[in-house]
Amino acid sequence: MDHIYNTLVLFMRKFVEKYYKGWYICEDPACTYRERAVSLKLEKGYLVCACKQGVMMREYTDSDLHLQFNYLLYVFDFVKQQEEHNSSGNAKVELDGDKAKLGFARLSNAVNQKLKQSSYSEIRLCELFSELMPKQFEFGRPTVPKTEYPGRNE
Ligand SMILES: [Zn+2]
Repeated sequence: MDHIYNTLVLFMRKFVEKYYKGWYICEDPACTYRERAVSLKLEKGYLVCACKQGVMMREYTDSDLHLQFNYLLYVFDFVKQQEEHNSSGNAKVELDGDKAKLGFARLSNAVNQKLKQSSYSEIRLCELFSELMPKQFEFGRPTVPKTEYPGRNE
């Protein structure tokens, strides 16, 4: 079990490293240009490729990383795997109830820890709607509109 756990941790670390390497590739499939240090010259908000035919896009995005971890979470979800195992009619592999359940729980916890480190799935409503809110209103702490009382400070 420890071997599988360590392999999973190394496997996830590999994808995190791939994300942080930050390679950019040209979106044009005919162009194979790939670079980490991209020019700061933007065209319509995108980095322009050296071939001038396409723009540079992240090779491995935060979305890809999140999807990868969610896939691993699915793989190590004991209930889903048991359902799939039973529905497939594949009776070759026997899952030893409690032992397998504990093993799957440990592996899915490892994946969950990685997912919690990422803020990809976090939505901050105050930032999301900040442009729509009136300037006086602060999310979570309504401010009392300032009214002036004539003659009060006199
Ligand atoms: Zn290109």
